[in-house]
Amino acid sequence: MRPPLVDSFDRRIESVRVSVTDRCNFRCKYCMPAEGLQWLQRTEVLTFEEIERLATILAAMGVFHVRLTGGEPLVRRDVPDLVERLVKVPGLTDLALTTNGIALRTLAGPLVDAGLRRINVSLDSLDHSRFAEITRRDMLDRVLEGLEEAERYPELRPIKVNAVAMRGFTEQEVIAFAELARRKPYVVRFIEFMPLDADRTWKKADVLTGAEIRAMIETVYPLVRLDAPASSTAERWGFADGTGEMGFINPVSEPFCSSCDRIRITAEGALRTCLFANEETDLRTPLRSGASDLELEQIIRAAVLNKRMKHEIGEPGFVHSTKSMSQIGG
Ligand code: SAM
Ligand code: SF4
Repeated sequence: MRPPLVDSFDRRIESVRVSVTDRCNFRCKYCMPAEGLQWLQRTEVLTFEEIERLATILAAMGVFHVRLTGGEPLVRRDVPDLVERLVKVPGLTDLALTTNGIALRTLAGPLVDAGLRRINVSLDSLDHSRFAEITRRDMLDRVLEGLEEAERYPELRPIKVNAVAMRGFTEQEVIAFAELARRKPYVVRFIEFMPLDADRTWKKADVLTGAEIRAMIETVYPLVRLDAPASSTAERWGFADGTGEMGFINPVSEPFCSSCDRIRITAEGALRTCLFANEETDLRTPLRSGASDLELEQIIRAAVLNKRMKHEIGEPGFVHSTKSMSQIGG
């Protein structure tokens, strides 16, 4: 084992989100533009071998949690092969995947066979026309079928369903989502809309807060607070009668930067130590020009020492991200 990876505010880094592609088959309004994003060339994207090497170096420093994301990770071919490689990395004990769900119909089984045990599926509406409005694709049924397929594998738990909460859009389905969490083995979570939309229309007034949503649910279904690990981004709430669980991820109204344990690696191999920091550290060039594991470790440690104390969303001088969530890896 190597010494732990720690930033200058004494936060220990234990979690990395790895984007496997910047491409996506949806065009969610809060994430991508309707058209016109420039895709990375195939040669610019890290290979599975390169991702495995970085994960191995990070795991030796105590980064035990890896989440694969994108873009839409499952549009990249052979992601189960990457899962199979990563579950064998010493020290990497928690591997998860975030997906829009449309490929789960065919890939849930191969992912489980490869060793995946945790999955998050993004789903912003349970109504066909509203789903199509927000994702700009009419594919709700495929996502629901993907979720049903995931449910067939009891090893794949918890299944988390994540909805982005936007004022003027989400309110009318809050109770339907709560009922989904009661009816199905899904932990349904609301994530506050963040200024990571390629269209750059985000305004603080568009954020429907977790507290507001929880109050709406409690008018119908009383909730009780559940324990969550200190570094968790989500507040956990259970239904008072014991049936089902909800989560609230409130980065805008209740920032959790002081306990942040995360870094990100973009599809092209850039290290991002904060979602909202526009500066990145290139890992691909050293990876491809013969850097040793120790040299890569030193580059990563130096970048982590510069991790920002906090995001400044809503504060004067806040600069909207130059990249969309799909280009960073959510
Ligand atoms: N395509 C996959 C998906 O949608 O699950 C993985 C990548 S996506 C960028 C990861 C997560 O980021 C999704 O849950 C998505 O809803 C969320 N997301 C994207 N843009 C966001 C924004 N502006 N604010 C809050 N969450 C956002
Ligand atoms: Fe694609 Fe996920 Fe972004 Fe939606 S949130 S456009 S599914 S990357």
